[in-house]
Amino acid sequence: MPSTNYDIVIIGAGIIGLATGMKLLEQFPKINLAILEKDSKEGSQQSGHNSGVIHSGIYYKPGSLKAKFCVAGRASMTRFCEENEIPVSTCGKLIVATDVAGEERLQALEERGTANQVKGLRFVTQDEMLEIEPHVRARKALYAPGTGIVDYRNVTAIYADRVRSLGGKIFFNSALTGSKAIGSTTILETETGEYECSNVINCAGLHSDLVAEMMGVNTDLRIIPFRGEYYKLRKESEFLVKGLIYPVPDPAFPFLGVHLTQTMKGWVEAGPNAVLAAKREGYRKRDFSFNDFIRTVTFPGFWKMSVREWKTGLWEINRSLRKGVFLNSLQQLVPELSADDLAGTGSGVRAQAVDRSGNLIDDFRIEESPGAIHVLNAPSPGATSSLVIGQHIAQLAAGNFSLAS
Ligand SMILES: Cc1cc2nc3c(=O)[nH]c(=O)nc-3n(C[C@H](O)[C@H](O)[C@H](O)COP(=O)(O)OP(=O)(O)OC[C@H]3O[C@@H](n4cnc5c(N)ncnc54)[C@H](O)[C@@H]3O)c2cc1C
Repeated sequence: MPSTNYDIVIIGAGIIGLATGMKLLEQFPKINLAILEKDSKEGSQQSGHNSGVIHSGIYYKPGSLKAKFCVAGRASMTRFCEENEIPVSTCGKLIVATDVAGEERLQALEERGTANQVKGLRFVTQDEMLEIEPHVRARKALYAPGTGIVDYRNVTAIYADRVRSLGGKIFFNSALTGSKAIGSTTILETETGEYECSNVINCAGLHSDLVAEMMGVNTDLRIIPFRGEYYKLRKESEFLVKGLIYPVPDPAFPFLGVHLTQTMKGWVEAGPNAVLAAKREGYRKRDFSFNDFIRTVTFPGFWKMSVREWKTGLWEINRSLRKGVFLNSLQQLVPELSADDLAGTGSGVRAQAVDRSGNLIDDFRIEESPGAIHVLNAPSPGATSSLVIGQHIAQLAAGNFSLAS
């Protein structure tokens, strides 16, 4: 059902694409905007398969986009949820060190969080720690009272409603398969027909490198999918976790380590780990895509990363295959947990950009070319930061696409 000539087409109705559409339409109400989504519903990939944490901004390098966007994002996300009656709970987070090395890293984390101006961040005494989380055992604990939880599927649904009420169109089952430029017009080819537009914003998450290539952009990044696997705690064991309990993360790795998380979905999650996935949307261990796998293993950065991180990679595979090893990581946080406490499972797949030198890109990466903006790395805390990222992209678009309000 090809169409109108759109001023802007956004690829991907995840939380970032929708937030961007919403912010653009709020600021430039006259633009003709469409969002193309390959799935039948909004937010069905990363945005619907995450830990549901509204992060407060502790972990990120001061001055980075992640630090700036997350701190502002936490406040704006919490406010947005309250204004739109989306259930949200500011339950607070405890980050715990269980050995001497962890204590030193926790100290560094506190300094980072303080530099990022995370509100209320403080070390707590043993008594306070046990008051906050009675079943935790640790040498030292850092407390972030402003960290919250939400079901991002609810947030994404409201963003989609807002886009529509502001006059934007969302086309589902419309995977972008190719593009061509005719003068200043771009023709986007999809499974449901062609769409003409003047400008494109690529928010395709796990497929963002492919979409950039389809649009003729030669990026030196490749999305490597990392599956995060969760266990759910049995209902009878949920009393063991009141809010959010995290380990001190390995600073060399962009993932936070398996944690225990209350969720707004009605259960407590344990995880996620971080295992290389053989398919971009490989939510199950057995999922395999020949094309995705070949794309990963033919990328020089993958091998450089593997040489550097092989120990961590093998350790994660071991933990993924053996429930006892997974449990052992959780027992570092709450020793009372037993295998019987871990019942159902779940998973998400992270879109992690890796460069040709094998570096896992830590910060958000948004690149521009004439008439196009590409979100090439938007891992956690992307959901927390989505309103701020959307606002940032709207500002870039105003200049790049010469938008007039
Ligand atoms: C396991 C896990 C836990 C996480 N936990 C947290 C957390 O607690 N807090 C937090 O803030 N962040 C968390 N994150 C990160 C957060 O979920 C992401 O930053 C965010 O969802 C990214 O949103 P997105 O819109 O970029 O991607 P996505 O939600 O993946 O959306 C991209 C969309 O593009 C569509 N698409 C792809 N290719 C095409 C195409 N060719 N044509 C049309 N459409 C296409 C996809 O179908 C998809 O709907 C977590 C992520 C994971 C995976």
